[in-house]
Amino acid sequence: MLPPDNHVHSQWSWDAPAGSMEDTCLRALELGLPSVAFTEHADLTPWTHKPDEEVPDAWRPLLAEGVLTPPPLDLDGYRECLASCRERHPELRILSGIELSEPHWHTARAETLLGMGPFERVLASIHSAPAADGSGFTEVSRQYIDQQPDKVVRAYLSETMRLIEQFAAFDVLAHIDYPVRSWPADARPYDPDDFEDEYRDVLRCLATADKVLEVNTRVPLHRQVLAWWHEEGGQAITFASDAHDPGALARGFRDAARMAEASGFRPGPDPHAFWGRS
Ligand SMILES: [Zn+2]
Ligand SMILES: [Zn+2]
Repeated sequence: MLPPDNHVHSQWSWDAPAGSMEDTCLRALELGLPSVAFTEHADLTPWTHKPDEEVPDAWRPLLAEGVLTPPPLDLDGYRECLASCRERHPELRILSGIELSEPHWHTARAETLLGMGPFERVLASIHSAPAADGSGFTEVSRQYIDQQPDKVVRAYLSETMRLIEQFAAFDVLAHIDYPVRSWPADARPYDPDDFEDEYRDVLRCLATADKVLEVNTRVPLHRQVLAWWHEEGGQAITFASDAHDPGALARGFRDAARMAEASGFRPGPDPHAFWGRS
């Protein structure tokens, strides 16, 4: 059996126009997934866009004076939809969730949101970084425009470290290797070994905080990072397609599960639970 998909977006995430909670549930049943968690975006950091920068048409209404402010999560609509999916598909375990972006920069707002829960899966993530020219923040992929790739990855990992140190109210660290998704094609190939110390620092800190590491399959997490997680004392992992449309649900999970088993992790007796150490 495939592991649960604990990081999925539906139409309730502002950047998932092709998302569908209902169709994702149907796809989960088709795949025989034990459970699926709808962890919608709470993107709390606005992004500064340069005047000449390309912006998807659907995002234009969110832009004002060069700043894109992600809309707030419609929690009432989300919860209503979740309840009706649960009613229609009692044979599937459908978990509630939220993906908090840079919660350590927005502690009060993050805590208010969590207070409006409960959420069964709380993911913490970094999607933003300070703009190189000091004018606000940008999405991480835009950091490569002005900076060397190594610097972007190192800055990402140190910000992740600060998140873990400064904000405790989450279960799972999402996509530790997020900048790799947009690693420039004309740079030398990404190699996690170049960042071993930085990865290990974050993983040790995460293990000490007793959190869960996500094996995100969008760009499959490198097996070396998972091996370091095991060596640094990491106790649990979770699998994440980070799907923004139903077709991407549980993508790459068979390979990811095989890699996790080879790295010293295994499913427990409860098919809905995180994987632990073998
Ligand atoms: Zn994310
Ligand atoms: Zn996500």
